[in-house]
Amino acid sequence: MAGEICARCGRPEASRRCPDCGEAPWASARPCDSLRQTAIFEGALRRAIHRYKYDGMKCLADPLGEMLTAWLEGSSAKWREFDAVVAVPGSRARGWELGFHHSHELALRVARFLELPLLQPLRRLRGPGQMGLSRQQRLENAHRIYGARRNPPDIRGMRILLVDDVVTTGATADALAAKLKALEASSVRMLALARTVELS
Ligand SMILES: [Zn+2]
Repeated sequence: MAGEICARCGRPEASRRCPDCGEAPWASARPCDSLRQTAIFEGALRRAIHRYKYDGMKCLADPLGEMLTAWLEGSSAKWREFDAVVAVPGSRARGWELGFHHSHELALRVARFLELPLLQPLRRLRGPGQMGLSRQQRLENAHRIYGARRNPPDIRGMRILLVDDVVTTGATADALAAKLKALEASSVRMLALARTVELS
């Protein structure tokens, strides 16, 4: 992607480090070690993602998944060195409604490409989504609405690649990374399809 991004969280139009990431060491402040997106959430991609996740056009999982794998292919070797892939868990009700979980389908394609297991140590609990909340509210809400599954797979010492469709502030990434690190994952990085332009 053209233009400058935050070296840690990938926020567009930031200088080397955005205000949320600040100075090193970042690990204590933000549990998600690194965050990147393949593109900005706008134009044709925005329409495609809407069709995919709200209209239930599952056939779009292939071309959208290819955007993620193409990005991984073109990135530095660091972005292919993981032990497992994890999808941002979706809500059960929405999964039933559409017949698939949008992030799960994307993560499945990424896992196949990297020849890694797709693990699901986390789950989405009941509660409101992240729409319309500030970054701080998103972080607090994400800690409430995501949790570890009852008998999670063993991820101790693993380098985890989290996959999501749209990233806004990175608050979900940080909350999920904190839960994965509580399960003793050694590192957590997130790749999203698209990034919204910053709210706050
Ligand atoms: Zn940042």
